[in-house]
Amino acid sequence: MLKPGSTIGILGGGQLGRMMAMCAASLGYRCIGFAPEGDNVAEPLCDDFFTNRWSDTTALAAFAAKCDVVTWEFENVPPTALEPIAKTRLFPPRIALEVAQDRLTEKRFVEDLGGRPAPFHAIDSQADLEDAAQRIGTPGIIKTRRNGYDGKGQWRIGSQHDIAALPPISAPCVYEGFVDFAAEFSVILVRARDGEVRFWDSPRNEHEDGILARSLLPAGDAITPQIDDARDLARKIADKLGYVGVLACEFFATADGPIFNEMAPRVHNSGHWTIEGAATSQFENHVRAVAGLPLGDTGTVAREVEMRNLIGKEAKGAQGELAGSDVHLHLYGKRQAREGRKMGHVTRLVR
Ligand code: AMP
Repeated sequence: MLKPGSTIGILGGGQLGRMMAMCAASLGYRCIGFAPEGDNVAEPLCDDFFTNRWSDTTALAAFAAKCDVVTWEFENVPPTALEPIAKTRLFPPRIALEVAQDRLTEKRFVEDLGGRPAPFHAIDSQADLEDAAQRIGTPGIIKTRRNGYDGKGQWRIGSQHDIAALPPISAPCVYEGFVDFAAEFSVILVRARDGEVRFWDSPRNEHEDGILARSLLPAGDAITPQIDDARDLARKIADKLGYVGVLACEFFATADGPIFNEMAPRVHNSGHWTIEGAATSQFENHVRAVAGLPLGDTGTVAREVEMRNLIGKEAKGAQGELAGSDVHLHLYGKRQAREGRKMGHVTRLVR
């Protein structure tokens, strides 16, 4: 159990780290962040912050020397950045990052555990793509194996004609069949160091342009009967990885049951509602797990919850929403409201 006053290192400097650091402070811990130069909104909430490249091994070693335990809020930390910090305890384990960073590895890993992703095929060239689209059919989606998020690094293919119009494939990708889903949902769990697993209620997630727009509870009839199966798979993933911390798995609810989309080995946007909507938030339970503290109750405290992301200019004037009853505003303090950028979120509860 990490004593009060101990230091938690956070790799990454975004809003997830910012919200994590707030919870760590409440539990009496210090936080030190590490991220390359950028709009690191976690920095003002950390006791200390290293602004260095992932390749700066000296800075990484100096960061780790100050930490009692290290975690991450950003899943694309290059695995090589974990070498200089290898002597410090790291939760979740490194393997979780390695599996989740490559869509192909992730899908194979999940299939081996009995999960069902959308039909997929690795593609490295135009010829592979033509072959994959023949075998799996259209419509489909090309996704880069690495570094994609919020719909970036994705191209939708409506028909075979679209393939000819594409620029050449320049990075390893996967081609996925388009899933005819009724709704999307996520399973968010926390796993403690001793292997105890707790789940939050699963929200229905609505995306716009590949970006999460809203998470809603209760999830509704298309999703509720599929949650147990999805949880079974998420638990198997967490157990197999020896996971510690919060893990999110995204699913499509289809007529054939849950189809695994992807996992995030970290706190997740579709879990932001837990800050006010659950007895213990995903951020607090992540810190508790990483620190070896007992996990908190994950029960939902409201009849209805809506978490809405404030994307780009939507954050302007959002303070006006606070006039509503049981409405909670979170602004991340980002300097530029670029299109598609998550600037904050609003959670509305009906108790
Ligand atoms: P991802 O970054 O893979 O989570 O994709 C972002 C969003 O694009 C998902 O939440 C879905 O709304 C949509 N999407 C991704 N993959 C598929 C698929 N194979 N079939 C249908 N929709 C998809």
